[in-house]
Amino acid sequence: MGVTAAEVWQALERVMDPEIPVVSVVEMGIVRNVVVDERGVAVTMTPTFAGCPALDVMRRDIEAAVRGLGAACVVQTVLSPPWTTEWISETGREKLRRFGLAPPPRLSGGPADVTFFEPAPCPRCGSTRTQLRNAFGPTLCRMIWYCDDCRDAFEQFKAL
Ligand SMILES: [Zn+2]
Repeated sequence: MGVTAAEVWQALERVMDPEIPVVSVVEMGIVRNVVVDERGVAVTMTPTFAGCPALDVMRRDIEAAVRGLGAACVVQTVLSPPWTTEWISETGREKLRRFGLAPPPRLSGGPADVTFFEPAPCPRCGSTRTQLRNAFGPTLCRMIWYCDDCRDAFEQFKAL
């Protein structure tokens, strides 16, 4: 059938996260593994936040992308180890910022709730004169912040 794992990864780079249409499922760290054998392609994915309803859409999009290469595709969902925001690639974080969504803080060592309320830098102007407005944004995955310099609100991905 002649499809290589590299071609599958390349095709998956074009599958966008349904919640954040500028970042691919690969950049989000959602695609964990690609295995190609004579029967077809097996993709392993770990969904992001359990509260995000995009899992089925993502699974369908991944299947469609692989079938577009002419290969049969099975998508397996693996919940352990759980997805964390640390899996978002640097490119993915930069795209989140350009999308106007502050990337999640890095959980370098410390527990989540220590870094949680450090001011999120504004994705528009980079200011750290920001205040947490609402820990529960439009989705469970996001928080609303307010930038004192832009005088406008922005959303931040919660760190997980
Ligand atoms: Zn700002």
